[in-house]
Amino acid sequence: MCLSRSECNERMTGKPITIVGGGLAGLTLGIGLRQRGVPVTVWEAGHYPRHRVCGEFISGRGQETLSRLGLRELFERAGAVNARTAAFFSATRSTPPRSLPAPAICLSRFTLDQLFANEFQKLGGELCAGQRWPAGGVHASTGSDRPKPELQPEGVVRATGRHLRPTENGWRWFGLKVHARNVPLTADLEMHVSPRGYVGLCRVNGGAVNICGLFRRRAGMSGSPQNWREWLRGQAGSPLNQRLAAAEFEENSFCAVAGISLRPQHAAARDACCVGDAITMIPPVTGNGMSMAFESAELAIEPLAAWSRGGISWTEASRTAAQRCDAAFARRLMWAKWLQRMMLTPSLQNVLIRLVSHSEWFWRTAFEWTR
Ligand SMILES: Cc1cc2nc3c(=O)[nH]c(=O)nc-3n(C[C@H](O)[C@H](O)[C@H](O)COP(=O)(O)OP(=O)(O)OC[C@H]3O[C@@H](n4cnc5c(N)ncnc54)[C@H](O)[C@@H]3O)c2cc1C
Repeated sequence: MCLSRSECNERMTGKPITIVGGGLAGLTLGIGLRQRGVPVTVWEAGHYPRHRVCGEFISGRGQETLSRLGLRELFERAGAVNARTAAFFSATRSTPPRSLPAPAICLSRFTLDQLFANEFQKLGGELCAGQRWPAGGVHASTGSDRPKPELQPEGVVRATGRHLRPTENGWRWFGLKVHARNVPLTADLEMHVSPRGYVGLCRVNGGAVNICGLFRRRAGMSGSPQNWREWLRGQAGSPLNQRLAAAEFEENSFCAVAGISLRPQHAAARDACCVGDAITMIPPVTGNGMSMAFESAELAIEPLAAWSRGGISWTEASRTAAQRCDAAFARRLMWAKWLQRMMLTPSLQNVLIRLVSHSEWFWRTAFEWTR
């Protein structure tokens, strides 16, 4: 049962839950637990507001989670932009704008994470920003001499985001993002593919266009990608390069991440209770990572609240949350892996663009199966 905001503030019953990581998964879980009167503390290593590497394009079932948790109206008040069309581009081919089978929501992470942090605190949640939870948590005894580093004590949930992996199958993955003005778009979402990665462009609140790319380079290649403008602008003469010809970048919104791992993982295989990217990361082309953060948090609320009330053990609560997430995400993770593989294979990029252009069935199926 969900409580009103004032009832949440008054009610603090049951065993407390600590959430490590105040990104979207951690804050959504914190909000859902506070709505049920559970005492919650969120530890967040960073501060709010902050820019994040993200396409800022929310697509999928997580939108229903937002409605159920009463968070949808926050987006509207913050000026979120609805995206209804998408177009795909390679260096030589493009699709016409296609209608998205379901609209997406575009809101900058600078605004979004701050909104969620405020909401969590309004509901009586304790937010420890600028506080890093010790790596590996508390080392519990595992019956052997060596403690299991991932094991967390009862009542602690990991919402720490993606797992760092310097290389995957011989590639180093990294992400870049910046906001810009003066970027004309032909669709609400433009996705530009190239052999070294893909870049998504969409309009967000405040009239800026978010430019976000996922790139890869061979491990062992000398030098580091210093010039982010060059990576984001794409090859000379490409549609992306033309689109960004007169772009005015908002330099203070630039951010980068490296060591991204896109190999699908099972929640049930984790030693700790996890939500969001701490379980696994879906290829960003789907625009579904934030949705999975919201969904995984929602799937964990009820078993964790039951643990807090003393109804079930921590092991049972963690296992139930993990099984629910694995059941919800297995299919989309598999299809997203194949879609991303196609997008990054030069000989298949134009095939993909032709299929999206000419086959309504392909477009709808690819959309539905990756969400
Ligand atoms: C290039 C790129 C583009 C993307 N584009 C999209 C998109 O368009 N649409 C979409 O839906 N998704 C997109 N995503 C994915 C999306 O950003 C993530 O899925 C989402 O942010 C996951 O939320 P999270 O809360 O699990 O993790 P995060 O948002 O990463 O939050 C984890 C938090 O944990 C904190 N933390 C970590 N360790 C500790 C510690 N020890 N103590 C305290 N705090 C800690 C971190 O500071 C961080 O704030 C993209 C990702 C990339 C890389």
